[in-house]
Amino acid sequence: MNTNELFRNDSYLKSCEATVTMIDDRGVQVNQSVCYPHGGGQLGDRGRLLLADGASIAISDTQKDRDTGEQLHIVDSAQAQQLSVGATINMEVDWERRYKLMRFHSCLHLVCAIIDAPVNGGSIQIDRARLDFDLKEPLDKVELTEKLNAHIAKDAAISMRWISDAELDAHPELVRTMSVKPPRNAEGTIRLVEIDGIDLQACGGTHVAKTREIGEMLVRKIENKGKQNRRITVVAADTA
Ligand SMILES: [Zn+2]
Repeated sequence: MNTNELFRNDSYLKSCEATVTMIDDRGVQVNQSVCYPHGGGQLGDRGRLLLADGASIAISDTQKDRDTGEQLHIVDSAQAQQLSVGATINMEVDWERRYKLMRFHSCLHLVCAIIDAPVNGGSIQIDRARLDFDLKEPLDKVELTEKLNAHIAKDAAISMRWISDAELDAHPELVRTMSVKPPRNAEGTIRLVEIDGIDLQACGGTHVAKTREIGEMLVRKIENKGKQNRRITVVAADTA
């Protein structure tokens, strides 16, 4: 059964009511969710399921089933026995952790906008993020850090919209990460994330609303991973 992914249209939603639609040894499914499932380089959310009787069940991860695409909230199997299909519950995302992931994800889109090269892969974690570029030329850490923080200081608006397959086919440049397929919703449309005046690309991740929310960043290292691969690791300046 499809889960209504509330976080795709409102990444600031911290909790919601939901109905349990399936429980098995993979995890718990609900009709709608505020938890982002691991994908597109971004870690899956943690959070809590809150039952009507006051009990609370920790969500240790959120994932998508590789074969079926079902959204699964990973919980302790003994605790899952307190749940029943059809039950109305409340759910909360671990907001402090998610907000860090949102800031790093938006930051990586700015890095994409600065470096004009294909992206081979990337990863967004709670204390750092990295992007791999297919690029021969060396990059300078200090220069990259300055450009990145200049974009952040612009406080540009970050917004989302949905386009059709045909529109995406007409603009292949909107797919920046070769290893990640653009996310589609139930209607088969694809989400674009636009950073006003700076970047536009297909992406299903969760983002902050304005670039200043990202906070000051530091390009901590640039590694050579193979002949044409430049791996860029970014951390928050106040944790560096
Ligand atoms: Zn993205």
